[in-house]
Amino acid sequence: MPQPASPRIAILGFSIECNKFAPPATKAHFLARTYLEGDDILTEARAPTPTMLPETPGFVAAMDAAGPWQPVGIALAMSEPNGPVEHGFFTELLDTIARRLKAASPLDGVYICAHGAALTTAEDDPEGVLFETVRGIVGANVPVVASFDLHANVSDRMVQLIDAFIGYRTNPHLDMRERGAEAAAALRELLAGVKTTRVRLRLPIVPPTVTLLTAAGPYAEMIELGQQRMGPEIMNVSVMGGFAYSDTAKNGLSVIVTARGDKAAATALAREIAQYGWDNRARFYPKLTPLDEAVGQALAAGRDPSLRALAFADVADNPGGGGRGNTMFLLRAFAEAGVEGALFGIIYDPDLAAEAHTHGLHYNFTAHFNRAETTNFSETWSAPARVVALSDGNCVGRRGIYAGQRLALGPCAALAIGGVTVVVVSHRLQCADPVFFEMMGLDIAKARSIAVKSRGHFRGGFDEFFGPAQIVEVDLPGLTSPMLKRFEWTRLPRPVIPLDEGVAFSLS
Ligand SMILES: [Zn+2]
Repeated sequence: MPQPASPRIAILGFSIECNKFAPPATKAHFLARTYLEGDDILTEARAPTPTMLPETPGFVAAMDAAGPWQPVGIALAMSEPNGPVEHGFFTELLDTIARRLKAASPLDGVYICAHGAALTTAEDDPEGVLFETVRGIVGANVPVVASFDLHANVSDRMVQLIDAFIGYRTNPHLDMRERGAEAAAALRELLAGVKTTRVRLRLPIVPPTVTLLTAAGPYAEMIELGQQRMGPEIMNVSVMGGFAYSDTAKNGLSVIVTARGDKAAATALAREIAQYGWDNRARFYPKLTPLDEAVGQALAAGRDPSLRALAFADVADNPGGGGRGNTMFLLRAFAEAGVEGALFGIIYDPDLAAEAHTHGLHYNFTAHFNRAETTNFSETWSAPARVVALSDGNCVGRRGIYAGQRLALGPCAALAIGGVTVVVVSHRLQCADPVFFEMMGLDIAKARSIAVKSRGHFRGGFDEFFGPAQIVEVDLPGLTSPMLKRFEWTRLPRPVIPLDEGVAFSLS
């Protein structure tokens, strides 16, 4: 089949990670981050500091570099992690995508920017529904390539309705742009006539988030094994960690191999990687530091400058996993114990940020946190505070997953509470970038400790200041606690590691 001289490629996307236990996501959440239709997708993807995550810019840049093409922007909706998406917005988006795809036909190919851990209030596999809609319009012979977050929960439908499955390979996610470029390379091959087969294997393991780092550990080794086995017959190996808090029947550590037509090769490789994961199942259990121990370490770091500075991660209240970014357990413990020299961020509390702006710099007042409570973890707490910095919250990410992206945190304030300086923001975002402190004039290098509302992406932003040995993952209550036994699961496949005993798995 001759390759079209200038193929018409549709670009669309739906990307959000949904925590079933968090309040629903609305259209407003997408509008606040990225909601684009038509040519605006291309304009924004080619902008120097786009608001969208980098896979689509990476895809567009690689397609631009590889030769003539006609990109056709369809619709792209992206939000910070949250609760399930209101189903009405999802069907509205599907209708928009369907209408624009039909109007753009005939097409030569499709790129879909997906996440894989979306939910709606009525659907556990919205990516599968989206792919079905797309395939139903473009037909069986038009290549469809999709990219996925490493936390994707993968259904068979998702794998079989597309021609190439391209998942992130790093956590923190620092390869988003590269995976977008890889999706472009895959699409160019498919346009040239290459046919693929895909194989998916799912393990009865729902890994707690903190066990899915890719610098070291069993998950890193599975990914590495896949990359070592890349050969002429293999187009892509994706090992998807999944996102426990979606609580769906498709949850579970999954291996997806896209092969250039050779199903036997794809199957053999998927089995080898899955077996490796199963043989290492005992390593998918979290080890966190109790709160009193963490407070002791922070106190010691504040008192003794000869000790290393420490970074404390509130992994259980991670806005990057649907947490509200406002629980008080760690802040309250640090402040009440008298921790010195600490930076704390970022707390989502629009009311408090607005009040600080009303008062102005250097004002002393009683800061009431969480006067508008959002979950039963978001308890109120009050403390004497002084306004030490104010900002409009507009910034460009400097390092890690937000690098180069335009971000709006809304009105922000830095408040001194005893020896702890806490940054309060008006738009919920995970604390993955040092710029959130730096834009307030705070010097991270001088802090004796820092506490972040982030599960793991802070590692890619704060690595200039804190190496792995300086990071303390604290065990606290919250919507994103890695202690999975604390949640009431209704849809997860059972029995499953780490929730149950006597879990069996066989490849034969
Ligand atoms: Zn992710």
